[in-house]
Amino acid sequence: GIFIALESDSSIELKKLREIIQVIDQEPIFDTDMQQLLQWISAYYHYPLGDVYSIAMPSLLRKGKGVILSTRKIWHLYSQAEEIDLSDYKRAPKQKKVLQLLSEKKYLAESELNELKITRDTIQALIKKYLILEETVEIIPAISNQIELPLKLNEEQNFVVNKIVEAMKNSEESNNIDGFKVFLIDGVTGSGKTEVYFHIIAEQLKLHKQVLVLVPEIGLTPQTVQRFQRRFAVPIVIMHSDLSDKERLDNWVLAKNNKIPIVIGTRSAIFTPMPKLGLIIIDEEHDASFKQQDTLRYSARDVAIMLAKQKNIPIILGSATPSLESYYNAQQKRYIYLKLTQRAGDANLPQIKLIDLRNQKLEDGLSKTVLQVIQQHLNNQGQVLLFLNRRGFAPNLICHHCGHIFKCSRCDACYTYHQEINKLVCHHCEKKLDLPRQCSECKSNSLFPLGLGTERIESVLKKHFAHETVVRIDRDSTRKKGSFNQFLEKINAGKYKILIGTQMLAKGHHFPNVTLAVIVNADGGLLSNDLRASERMGQLLMQVAGRSGRAEKPGEVLVQTRQPDNSHLVCLLQKDYQLFLDYLLQQRKQTQLPPFSFLALFRADAFSEADAFIFLTEIKNKISIAKINIHCLGPVAAPLQKKAGKFRAQLLLQAFNRKELQNLLDHLVQDISSFDSSKKVKWSLDVDPVDLF
Ligand code: ADP
Ligand code: ZN
Ligand code: ZN
Repeated sequence: GIFIALESDSSIELKKLREIIQVIDQEPIFDTDMQQLLQWISAYYHYPLGDVYSIAMPSLLRKGKGVILSTRKIWHLYSQAEEIDLSDYKRAPKQKKVLQLLSEKKYLAESELNELKITRDTIQALIKKYLILEETVEIIPAISNQIELPLKLNEEQNFVVNKIVEAMKNSEESNNIDGFKVFLIDGVTGSGKTEVYFHIIAEQLKLHKQVLVLVPEIGLTPQTVQRFQRRFAVPIVIMHSDLSDKERLDNWVLAKNNKIPIVIGTRSAIFTPMPKLGLIIIDEEHDASFKQQDTLRYSARDVAIMLAKQKNIPIILGSATPSLESYYNAQQKRYIYLKLTQRAGDANLPQIKLIDLRNQKLEDGLSKTVLQVIQQHLNNQGQVLLFLNRRGFAPNLICHHCGHIFKCSRCDACYTYHQEINKLVCHHCEKKLDLPRQCSECKSNSLFPLGLGTERIESVLKKHFAHETVVRIDRDSTRKKGSFNQFLEKINAGKYKILIGTQMLAKGHHFPNVTLAVIVNADGGLLSNDLRASERMGQLLMQVAGRSGRAEKPGEVLVQTRQPDNSHLVCLLQKDYQLFLDYLLQQRKQTQLPPFSFLALFRADAFSEADAFIFLTEIKNKISIAKINIHCLGPVAAPLQKKAGKFRAQLLLQAFNRKELQNLLDHLVQDISSFDSSKKVKWSLDVDPVDLF
């Protein structure tokens, strides 16, 4: 249990109350700021406080372990033993070895004993002779001994750094009265945002403050971490979901005890307790992975802004493609907007060209022009990156005779054909099926894969460029732990000439040798009717384009489309992403969509379609009685109507006043559990939904 406050009486029945048998922790696991933040999260996302605490804590604490630092044993020489005559140890070679080692290095650690084939007995013997000393120490991450010097900033970078450092100084002098400020750095890909962060972090470290850096899931690679380690001679930890429970707790406790000046992590790192937190940085703030899509559906970016406010400290949001919400806040002067328009160093922004696919003969999805340009870049020793956001060979298997398309029996979705395993796979429930030999409807055996997936592009590239090295990067090819990072290293070592991949490949990485980026199909994003589809497409396009020409060699970007006149595309090609943002914002204003209104989404799934609808209709009826200015859209079937055998429906709430919406949700969430219809469904509430699926 988690104890948060003491009350002298309670409205809860006595038999439901529990006695505290034993207190595990000697001090609160979260400081007051963090406790307030968790309260806020619970209220804002309408999620039970106990569950919020539970999600914010390392799982070992949840299981009853106390907040203690992990320690290890080390041994070093007794000071007066330094003049030991090693020739006295002829008959104790092991002891001699230990003494010898210890005269060369400061200490031996527990973990080294096995490797050196030294037993405990040897150690004990030396301790008894008062030659060496045993000590128990905290485990603190090692500091790199090759520290790189800061780069000389260019004019734009300098301006941004000065602006932020100045604001930090002012708040320091005014005793943190107005320390809270949100900076939005809108910097084109390769403009040296990381270098800007580094300069600002350095200022914070001088003040002995802690810094929290949040990065997208895909962005947290060893390369990123090494970049920090090479720059700062301080202990750094990472926080992400792949850590073991023990590592997670250790890092957590270290941060809480102020032993770690820099914490880098993904979404959930926002819950790391940092008593001396002085700055939060969110890199690629637009990234969808900052929003949790199940249980507590929080936005780590929004929570981080709240935390900064609570702690009265600055927060920096950085992106080459800022989210509309953040951009709008900057326009409203709630955030301080800073721009980096040039690439840093000797790099220039790549040229983007549209390739009109209409009436062209394609070789498995690639136009002649694209194949030719790829060849040119290969001839000039450049690497080529192709982007397609669909894994597998083809998104459909179709019968040539009757047109039947193979669909998953448990989901409202088509099977994707995966050639490598020769199976049909449902991407929504992971159900697999051996490749059928004949059509289930007409028994014809002329079945063929329809559409494009990364495997298919890979195979056409391998065929067309038979003498080049091709690598495919997607969730299938990187299943093995660590393989993604190995691929990244090999790519930068020049082992592969042609790279094809999904967004795993397209986001954030620094590939100095890539000179050509190809977007195989821009139309998917243009046609989708999701609220954020065009925004997403714009972000991806700019991110993919941003992989090209990051070093001295000039870059080029080709975008294949059948809609070359599409207004979003045309606007994106004007080079300045801000124009695209302005255009989208204007559209959102016309349609009264966020950030011009506030959304909340109720989702329900059930074994019967009717149950889901009855439940959501009951919610809707409650709202209509309330006579407030909140629109209900739906209930409607979810875009993916059936998933893993369950029917899914949703009810979208749109409000023009945030408070009004929050009040309504407060009441609703309390009422819902008393609805009879709620017993037959699994439901959830998503405040500020990012994806409307
Ligand atoms: P971003 O995060 O904005 O995409 P990075 O910080 O990764 O950009 O920088 C891109 C490249 O430019 C890196 O190789 C970086 O070392 C280099 N760079 C950044 N700032 C400078 C500078 N002031 N002078 C020279 N090179 C720089
Ligand atoms: Zn058929
Ligand atoms: Zn399925």
